[in-house]
Amino acid sequence: MAEKRDYYQVLGVDRGADDATLKKAYRKLAKKYHPDMNPGDKDAEQKFKEATEAYGVLSDPEKRKAYDQFGHAAFENGGGAGGYGGFGGFDFNSADMGDIFGDIFGDLFGGGRSRRATNSPMKGANLRAAVHITFQEAVFGCEKEIELTLKDPCKTCGGTGAKPGTSPETCPKCNGTGQVVYTQQSMFGMVRNVQTCPDCGGTGKIIREKCSDCRGTGYTSSRKKIQVSVPAGIDDGQSIRIREKGEPGTNGGPRGDLLVEVRVARHPIFQRQDMNIFSTAPITYAQAALGGTIRISTVDGDVEYEVKPGTQTDTKIRLKGKGVPSLRNRSVRGDHYVTLVVQVPTKLNEEAKEALRAFDAACGNRPAGKPAKGAEKEKKKSFMDKLKETFED
Ligand SMILES: [Zn+2]
Ligand SMILES: [Zn+2]
Repeated sequence: MAEKRDYYQVLGVDRGADDATLKKAYRKLAKKYHPDMNPGDKDAEQKFKEATEAYGVLSDPEKRKAYDQFGHAAFENGGGAGGYGGFGGFDFNSADMGDIFGDIFGDLFGGGRSRRATNSPMKGANLRAAVHITFQEAVFGCEKEIELTLKDPCKTCGGTGAKPGTSPETCPKCNGTGQVVYTQQSMFGMVRNVQTCPDCGGTGKIIREKCSDCRGTGYTSSRKKIQVSVPAGIDDGQSIRIREKGEPGTNGGPRGDLLVEVRVARHPIFQRQDMNIFSTAPITYAQAALGGTIRISTVDGDVEYEVKPGTQTDTKIRLKGKGVPSLRNRSVRGDHYVTLVVQVPTKLNEEAKEALRAFDAACGNRPAGKPAKGAEKEKKKSFMDKLKETFED
């Protein structure tokens, strides 16, 4: 199977195309390539499926958004569940699909979905794995090794699944196509239903004597170590694609890919949003009032920062270029935003207390820690009075 084409390219529309344009483009292609109009034409059938898949994704706002962001990777499932990636999950019952299918092909897609002919070379299914890394490793990139079970074609039987000296026979029910076709009359006309051959399970082949090493599956499994190059700037939940490390292909098709999801551990001080890093840094009351040099932790190590005299608590400062590198260009970096928090001392010795009182007096304030008793009573009384007024009303 060749690399999947871009959905917009398949439908021949540009990326900003609206719903009506998509529908029109799909309708045109579907009429041209529909299997009933082109009996036995594999190329037309392939084009029809391709267009249907593309329209299925682009006509759904959520799927379209995911596709715009992640491309085909958004719809790949590693389970190897058959069918073709991306097509399996379509909702044919949605009003719009019902409408477009209804007026073009009647009941054709009533329940089942058609399958790609299984005796042509097919790319293997994608596999998924996860790798856990630290915050720092995500920022600067790292090399990791993961271990997983990979299937390989069985060496004893060469992947046929048949006992050495024998070979698989062509399935008589489907003549090796892996599909059986039922034709039915319906109120919309003749309906062609394609189903997986029940005798051979879609392989097109029947194995009379199974290979003992792979029990007829044609595959053996083994634990393999795989190197994962994690690029600088990767974020939690993003995936790295490692080509041809997925399930083996069939009939000479290439292996699927391995999609490694990256899980980034939380950092005790730093928080991240896209390319920017956020943290807080404590400063003393004297540093806030008088200014001074403080040390701030960044992913590049500590940096010195000159606090301005008269800095208020919650002042935000920006350390330019101390953020996360761009995935596309690691020399471009985000910024690190630091919130300066003035610390109010909780444990003061007598000398410090005296100094603070003197400081307060010098500022022209009433002596701290010794509130005027009259003022306190005054306050309480007026509060009680207010309370009374509320209840008397
Ligand atoms: Zn074998
Ligand atoms: Zn068969």
